[in-house]
Amino acid sequence: MDSWDSRNLPISLHQEKLVHAIKANAFLVVTGETGSGKTTQLPQYLYQAGFGKNGKIGVTQPRRVAAITVAQRVSHEVGCSLGKEVGYQVRFDDCSSEDTVIKYMTDGCLLREILADPSLRQYSVVILDEVHERSLNTDILLGLLKRKVFHPQGSSPGRSTSLKVVVMSATLETAKLSEFLGHCPVFTIPGRTFPVAETFCSLIGPKDTDSSVYVKEVVKVALDLHTGEMTGDILVFLTGQSEIEKACDMLYEKAEAIDYRYDVHDHSVEGLLILPLYGSMPTDQQRQIFQPPPKGVRKCVVATNIAATSLTINGIRYIVDSGFVKQLNHNSRVGLDILEVVPISKSEAQQRAGRAGRTTAGKCFRIYSKEFWEKCMPEYTVPEIQRTSLTSVILTLKCLGVHDVIRFPYLDCPEERFILAALKQLYQCDAIDRRGHVTRLGKLMVEFPLPPGITRALLKGASLGCEDLLLPVAAMLSVENIFIRPGQQDKQQDAEREHRKLITKSGSCNDFTVLLSVFEKCRASDSPSTWCRDHWIHWRAMKSAFNVETQLREILLRLKKQNDFPRETFDGSRSELFRRCLCSGYFANVARRAVGRTFCTMDGHGSVVHIHPSSALFDQEAELDWIIFHDVLVTSRVYVRTVCPIRYDWVKDLLPKLHEVDAYELSSVAREEVTDEEVTRWEAKEAAKRQSDESAEEA
Ligand code: ADP
Ligand code: MG
Repeated sequence: MDSWDSRNLPISLHQEKLVHAIKANAFLVVTGETGSGKTTQLPQYLYQAGFGKNGKIGVTQPRRVAAITVAQRVSHEVGCSLGKEVGYQVRFDDCSSEDTVIKYMTDGCLLREILADPSLRQYSVVILDEVHERSLNTDILLGLLKRKVFHPQGSSPGRSTSLKVVVMSATLETAKLSEFLGHCPVFTIPGRTFPVAETFCSLIGPKDTDSSVYVKEVVKVALDLHTGEMTGDILVFLTGQSEIEKACDMLYEKAEAIDYRYDVHDHSVEGLLILPLYGSMPTDQQRQIFQPPPKGVRKCVVATNIAATSLTINGIRYIVDSGFVKQLNHNSRVGLDILEVVPISKSEAQQRAGRAGRTTAGKCFRIYSKEFWEKCMPEYTVPEIQRTSLTSVILTLKCLGVHDVIRFPYLDCPEERFILAALKQLYQCDAIDRRGHVTRLGKLMVEFPLPPGITRALLKGASLGCEDLLLPVAAMLSVENIFIRPGQQDKQQDAEREHRKLITKSGSCNDFTVLLSVFEKCRASDSPSTWCRDHWIHWRAMKSAFNVETQLREILLRLKKQNDFPRETFDGSRSELFRRCLCSGYFANVARRAVGRTFCTMDGHGSVVHIHPSSALFDQEAELDWIIFHDVLVTSRVYVRTVCPIRYDWVKDLLPKLHEVDAYELSSVAREEVTDEEVTRWEAKEAAKRQSDESAEEA
């Protein structure tokens, strides 16, 4: 039996009023403290009020774990098996059926559904949850739903009743949201919170941004707390999987765990139950998080930001805040999006602290100094739309017929240069033409829930009939890292040795081929899970890769049935064919060897990069000339990962595309002021200019 009862949640007093307000308005903003029952209860209220009869009740979440966990919880409360009346859908994992009425999904999934069904005929109500997180996809959905409701351009075929939109937010910004949505009403769920005493421990100053420092400090504070404070569970905020695992390892060790085994995640030692919580964790392990600890035992959850608002764990009385978060940011130094560890904002720190005061007075220990708070932490978190690449969403918008992407109703406008960069990238991979219109290729690309580079490479492969080389690679790049990196030194050496063997066996010095080879070898083996264990490969990640590959293959098969699917031929070696396909996707990520072991990128940024030590090409830089890479990791150096050697010849014709078009041209087109004649005239002018340049060169 759970230690809490859904009838006692703050939201339960307002069931009728809430349902009424939703019936009476096209848009409603709902706000209330985290843990008041918005996510788990409101969809059930709507279900009980009959909303499910005219369509589904869709609930979006920015995080995939939240969508899955909450759906599990609600199916349990409703008393159905998951995937029946209550289900979920996240990228590459659909656990919903025809019977599903309450559907939890990621915001990215709903965006894809809008592509297939712009009027969202399947839904009677859409709930955008966690809007305060300001994820890119949720922001885009807000704009799209606003446009849809206020300017329903034409009719909505097949819609019997009007769609209701509920926007839920934990805090703040509700006035801004209401104003954005035509001054719609705001429903506030009153809630009571208890005071949280906040302490700055001054262990981290403005210069200590190295993860090894803050991981050690949170562990120390958590242990002090365990030995010095009264009963109550602990919630530690860290940044990501590897730091969390490191911290848990240290906690087990310090608490003198005897039975240490690599793959065991929970230990109850001397009254401390240590539980990690991060996005890519298996869901059965996540479920443990919510269970109350045995009597006399204190629970210590070490989590990412997911525990700040998306998931509420009951019984938390103490917070240990590292002050950092992992965030995807556009890095102008290298011109790419990079996952970085950055200080959290002050508002985020307050949110974290608040998790300790839900049911009784609590305490929050910040491991950083007041000086760090003042000098390093911004007031608010910058919305994702203002700090990451917009390429995929702009292609989606264009495919939805939003041609003028600059004047789209954004809650907060992205900087124009980000929109321009996205347009430029879309143009470079032939997804849009010079006038900013989606090309045939762009329409194919948007069908894949993958980043543009690998999608382009995959489609190139498919047009050449070698998708069997590209599909596994695309799948492997979509799952978590398959290579196990154990924390213990001796095991680490074992793992590295096995990984090196795999690289040698793949018969080629190219990280993409290594991925392909691991995929094929594992799939062909008699017992794939044993194969994984022997080679220090994550079996769980491999299983997802197999599943993702199947799904991508299905999408491709569907598209290939279209008459105008591009076909090309090529006669050369398999290895060249493979690498040429990669070039057509990644030619913006091309680098040429500079001095020593460094490379210089060719995209106009001219950044100096190094090959990451995990690469098959590490230590062989001297033999290389041109390379392409999948992504970048910035520490004290800029590293490129998943690297492939190429020949200049293969990208020679593509490289001018990186510079030939001025993004402003694409955007002025985006403002819909350019006619076909103007483009023809412009192209003629360009041709003339090229000719005169050429004759000048000859002379
Ligand atoms: P809100 O969306 O307002 O933040 P939720 O609906 O997520 O609130 O949570 C309401 C209550 O349900 C909280 O007490 C939370 O701990 C509990 N809860 C949510 N998910 C689970 C779960 N998977 N297992 C047990 N309790 C849960
Ligand atoms: Mg919620």
